[in-house]
Amino acid sequence: MTREHRQPEVNIGLVGHVDHGKTTLVQALSGEWTDQHSEEMKRGISIRLGYADATFRRCPDMDAPECYTVEETCPDGSESEVVRTVSFVDAPGHETLMATMLSGAAMMDGAVLVIGANEPVPQAQTAEHLMALDIIGIENIVIAQNKIDLVDNEIARENYQQITDFVAGTVAEDAPVVPISAQRGVNMDLLMQAIEEEIPTPDTAPDTDPQLQVARSFDINRPGTTFDELMGGVLGGSLVRGRLHTGDEIELRPGREFEEEGQSEYRPITTTIRSLQAGDDLLEEVGPGGLLGVGTGLDPSLTKGDALAGQVAGPPGTLPPTWDSFTIEVELLERLVGGDEIEPINTGEPLMLTVGTATTVGAVTSARENECEVNLKRPVCAQSGAKIAINRRVGTRWRLIGIGTLVD
Ligand code: GDP
Ligand code: MG
Repeated sequence: MTREHRQPEVNIGLVGHVDHGKTTLVQALSGEWTDQHSEEMKRGISIRLGYADATFRRCPDMDAPECYTVEETCPDGSESEVVRTVSFVDAPGHETLMATMLSGAAMMDGAVLVIGANEPVPQAQTAEHLMALDIIGIENIVIAQNKIDLVDNEIARENYQQITDFVAGTVAEDAPVVPISAQRGVNMDLLMQAIEEEIPTPDTAPDTDPQLQVARSFDINRPGTTFDELMGGVLGGSLVRGRLHTGDEIELRPGREFEEEGQSEYRPITTTIRSLQAGDDLLEEVGPGGLLGVGTGLDPSLTKGDALAGQVAGPPGTLPPTWDSFTIEVELLERLVGGDEIEPINTGEPLMLTVGTATTVGAVTSARENECEVNLKRPVCAQSGAKIAINRRVGTRWRLIGIGTLVD
């Protein structure tokens, strides 16, 4: 039997504290373990951002929530119907990977916040990830209260209360809290129903110029591959709108760095799409949803080791401008997650900025009340009005201190 290919239509982030069960949940829903993939492209993506596609199905003769399943066969032996395919982006919980979580957020249409029922709420990354969803503006959220198999009824209820107290006044205030055990597969149907209700498929404007946010880039050739067998560079990312076809010409911005008389300058790169991969399938045409592997005619040395991560691709002449410096309208958080008050931004200080899937360091050249100008170490391609996550070095790590808007 040939499996019908279904490109996912919605990207859902899995966020929350390390070890609360994000990867286990993705596995329960997709049958895939996002921490390990065989292929080079998938392996590369899952180191920084694990992902897996899951097809939600329903049994036609059953009521909600029991009708929801990922199985093709219903309890009564009939065949289940496809509801839709979703792509889970599994954010790493480790605190130093906050920037990765933020660049992943650029590709999320909604999020499942996984909270372990067996620990006090909130743990550090539970709070930090929720704040990130808040400032990036991801409003479609489902909370999974996981590991209910580890606690008794009373603790589960207390923990549930802690969760609702904790999210009060945040973007997740009205998010449903679904008690589950990802490991034992308890209440997966309820969780799927909540996802169906809270995280709709976005309207991605299929007739507009396509725009690909590049999150990874690879050289998929084995060492020692001869020149005539060499495969072109591969881009991994998410199409935010429009459609791509094999044979299409695309431009990448900011592009490639050139040195001239001691001055560095980025120039756009153009290439042709040679292959399009969604999940395990090679396709002639793709739309938004899920993570795509885009084979190109680029010299693989240009795409090696994520060299093009953070860039934007689309038809030549259609992409947003490239910025070497810009002004940010700044909204600082009051305090660091779980910590100290945040001081104003100073002229001269370095900031780490996440814009779309790009992360770049910028030096503040002028700081005013609600605005600052920054010179970027690496330019970014972005639309004026884009949201920027602002991180400052505190001790040994970059901490989220606010959100900005690119003004000019
Ligand atoms: P992540 O860091 O959030 O991706 O967490 P993992 O999915 O890697 O899970 C961390 C640990 O918790 C693993 O040992 C899992 O087997 C375990 N775990 C995950 N979900 C459950 C659950 O529902 N019940 C129990 N008892 N253990 C779980
Ligand atoms: Mg994990």
